[in-house]
Amino acid sequence: MKSQIIIVQENGIAKPHFCCGHCGKVIEDASEANFVWNPDKPDETMVICKAYACEETQERNQGGRCWMDLDTAWFYLKSNSKIEEKRVREKAKALASIGA
Ligand SMILES: [Zn+2]
Repeated sequence: MKSQIIIVQENGIAKPHFCCGHCGKVIEDASEANFVWNPDKPDETMVICKAYACEETQERNQGGRCWMDLDTAWFYLKSNSKIEEKRVREKAKALASIGA
């Protein structure tokens, strides 16, 4: 499986993005992608875009998996990782100011 997270350089700043595990499309809006997993194979968790071809390929190759909208999955990841939005925004702002 190819990487599900890529780094996009914007104005000299490295910004991580999810990308589709099938077509490689950069996910710029979480509502355009799903988080897909198999409870019996947690190492096969992936993000796929909602393009018909990618969803159909996923169903054909890996039917019986569990699905969740990426924005919902992000909510759980954020909560379960104790990510505080205010703290993250401050860190991102600081990185942007130094061009990291
Ligand atoms: Zn795709």
